[in-house]
Amino acid sequence: MDLEWSNAYVASEKRLMNVAISVGAVKTDEQFNIIDRFSAYIKPGRGFRLRKDVKNLTGITEEQLSNGISFSDTVKALCRFVDEEDTLLFWGGSDMAVLDENCRVFLGLDRVPFVNRYIDMLKACDEKLEIPGNHQLSLADTAKLLQVDIDGLSAHDAFDDSIMALKCFKKLFINEDTSRYVIECDSEYYARKRFQKYKISDCNDPRLKGDLVMVRCPSCRATLQRTEKLHSNGCNMFARHHCPSCGEDFFVGMVFTVTYDGVKRHISIRPWKNAVKNDE
Ligand SMILES: [Zn+2]
Repeated sequence: MDLEWSNAYVASEKRLMNVAISVGAVKTDEQFNIIDRFSAYIKPGRGFRLRKDVKNLTGITEEQLSNGISFSDTVKALCRFVDEEDTLLFWGGSDMAVLDENCRVFLGLDRVPFVNRYIDMLKACDEKLEIPGNHQLSLADTAKLLQVDIDGLSAHDAFDDSIMALKCFKKLFINEDTSRYVIECDSEYYARKRFQKYKISDCNDPRLKGDLVMVRCPSCRATLQRTEKLHSNGCNMFARHHCPSCGEDFFVGMVFTVTYDGVKRHISIRPWKNAVKNDE
């Protein structure tokens, strides 16, 4: 499945949002042979303006959109197209993020009703091709690299992109167990996704205890002793620490971020002398 969207001001939200404008999908058997197709232009709500760059990139026109079906009807149609036990394949994580936000804002749904589980094909293909995380390839580049036949398919057309992505995925994963890539969209999935990370700014926060504030000496690994109260400058906390084993003093800076999986710490340690010299 592939989605095209345009960043647009949504009056009800009083902010810019990625609004879905087109969705294309193919249904396949277990051998990735295409057995059904889906394609729709989504009629946007009042006040929507299609961005020029999106228009140029996707070739979608205002006219196609105004002749399209509402987002609500698109979702209903997709609920009929997708079976409950189906695994969806998306290229990257953003299509699912846009679907989720659009379902929430426009339909008041707390989940995407037709997605029970999915695979991020981009992630799976990059992993298989051993492409480092910061060098993600575009769909068209991956297709080129894998020498899949994309004749007659235009990039950034939702339906053609879904076929292109399927061809890439098929080339790499046919006859292979792909279950390790499946993401179940259960309540935990959404809870994790909706969780807003934040940084702790209060040095006296009761969560700052135990291992979270334990610091080891960078040279001898002994546990450092804090020799003064923790100070904070916004979310950056710092304090002088002393190593009882090698007798050195250290400047320790820490940032604590509250995530779905608990509080995570980012730490930096410098010898006290250097730290003081740098501050002069
Ligand atoms: Zn030490």
